[in-house]
Amino acid sequence: MRALLPFIRLFAFAKLPLILGLILMILGLASSMGLLTLSGWFLAATAIAGLGSLFNFFYPSASVRGLAIGRTVARYFEKWVTHDATFRVLANLRVQVFEKIIPLSPAVLNRYRNSELLNRLVSDVDTLDSLYLRLLAPFFSAVLVIIAMTIGLSFIHTPLALGIGMVLLLSLVLIPTTFYRLGQQFGKPLVQARATYRTQFLEFIQTQAELLLFNAENQIKAKMENTEKHWQATQEKEAKLGGFSTALSLFINGLLICAMLWFGSQADFGDDEYRAAFIALFTFAALAAFEIIMPLGATFLHIGQVIAAAERVTDIVEQQPLVEFQGEEKFEPQVRLISAKNLSFTYPESKNLALDTLTLDLEQRQKIAILGKTGSGKSTLLQLLVRNYDPNQGELLLAGKPISGYAEQTLREQFCFLTQRVYVFSDTLRQNLQFASHDKISDEKMIEVLNQVELGKLLTQPEGLDLWLGDGGRPLSGGEQRRLGIARILLNAAPILLLDEPTEGLDRETERQILRLILQHTENKTLIMVTHRLTALEQFDKICVIDEGKLIEQGDYKSLIKKEEGFFKRFVERV
Ligand code: ATP
Ligand code: MG
Repeated sequence: MRALLPFIRLFAFAKLPLILGLILMILGLASSMGLLTLSGWFLAATAIAGLGSLFNFFYPSASVRGLAIGRTVARYFEKWVTHDATFRVLANLRVQVFEKIIPLSPAVLNRYRNSELLNRLVSDVDTLDSLYLRLLAPFFSAVLVIIAMTIGLSFIHTPLALGIGMVLLLSLVLIPTTFYRLGQQFGKPLVQARATYRTQFLEFIQTQAELLLFNAENQIKAKMENTEKHWQATQEKEAKLGGFSTALSLFINGLLICAMLWFGSQADFGDDEYRAAFIALFTFAALAAFEIIMPLGATFLHIGQVIAAAERVTDIVEQQPLVEFQGEEKFEPQVRLISAKNLSFTYPESKNLALDTLTLDLEQRQKIAILGKTGSGKSTLLQLLVRNYDPNQGELLLAGKPISGYAEQTLREQFCFLTQRVYVFSDTLRQNLQFASHDKISDEKMIEVLNQVELGKLLTQPEGLDLWLGDGGRPLSGGEQRRLGIARILLNAAPILLLDEPTEGLDRETERQILRLILQHTENKTLIMVTHRLTALEQFDKICVIDEGKLIEQGDYKSLIKKEEGFFKRFVERV
């Protein structure tokens, strides 16, 4: 239950509408009970009075009508106000969760699958809507209405009124606690099974091509079926308990009605003529109480799920970012632009050193190429430069100041990072290019750059720059995706470029052309390029070879090629 507290506090955000909703809920419930109670009395009393009597029909019938209309109106506005407020609270919660998620990227988020994050943000937050709508508001309005009804009825017959009140309040304590306990076992499995099923289903859709090729569709289907069976079995158990709670509520209600008939028939109402009408009044009051007791069991069975959802959302909200941007240093360019001293780094949840006491210096406007076997730590070095992770040991300086001293925006403005995998947004070609720059890029500039990277053929479609890419759009080949990445670089104004294998997967001719473009673009900029290729390396100021996280060779092309037994020399000879 404690897991719900932060979320209950969140409702303070829409305090007034929620209080108004509660008042409307109380009015609706009270009118409903009043309507049935008064009708019971009225029908019996008119039957006793008979036709032509002096019985006052006017006030009771007007009250019945008033209560019927009041109930409808209160219900209508209650649903409107409470749902509106709840959705506002949930929207606010989503924004809060999202704000917490963004700084976790990418180090902490790597631990969660994308579909899992989506589940928590959408489905778990949705589950929390029951907290007010089905739990808090109905419970508090029930308590208040029972107390008000008991006080009202006690003016007619105190012991009977207290009897009804006691039974209802007792039910209000016992049914929720019993079904809350019984339902606890289902909360986690149900929420977990739902999330797992969605994740597996998404995976199934996304990996269709591979599954078909490897004829492995049935394996995934079997996994999904297993999850589904488990999910259904838990749902069935919960539904059975839900049925039991309804039966129990009906039973308690039936008992209460019988008790009212029995004790009512023995009670002294001080008015023998309309005695039967008073018995009817109490019996109908007991009948109306059903409306309060009925939903309690199912609601409290459901709390287990609300708590499980709350815990899953809290789990994300409480994650601490690995990297925090708190500095406020100004960037003042220096000749020695980047300086790494004895950098060591191990990825979280990994034991091996990805970088091992690596030392490297880079001057302004220098172009350096980083070579090394796969898994040697090349991409990791770039990840540390953009502070996706912080080193465990050593010092990383940008323009003479520790890189952690800069605000996030200052740092982002200095670097343009082309990662190993270029992400194509499900959006237009124009938008896929525009986000590379803060300033508006003109269509002419985009077309020029697309032609430079030989993606001009994308523009031959009638949509032009409005061509839809990514999901549901024009698929791009691996090489086209790389070149889209290069186009973004050419449109970005940052002074330091970090390129992770920009020409991977391109043919020799295109590679030469792209490297020429990159070197032209970076004439007055600083460039760090990770590569497995030899093309154009003579034009770089420095070539650094990394092996097992250590810098093992550095120098220009001419000096390294001369180095006997050197890694670079062997590499050139092998290619
Ligand atoms: P490649 O040429 O294949 O791209 P690389 O030199 O860029 O290789 P890195 O990606 O820097 O290699 O990886 C260095 C080491 O760190 C490897 O052993 C890799 O398995 C490991 N590694 C990389 N990313 C992570 C991660 N997110 N979590 C844990 N270990 C990682
Ligand atoms: Mg890499």
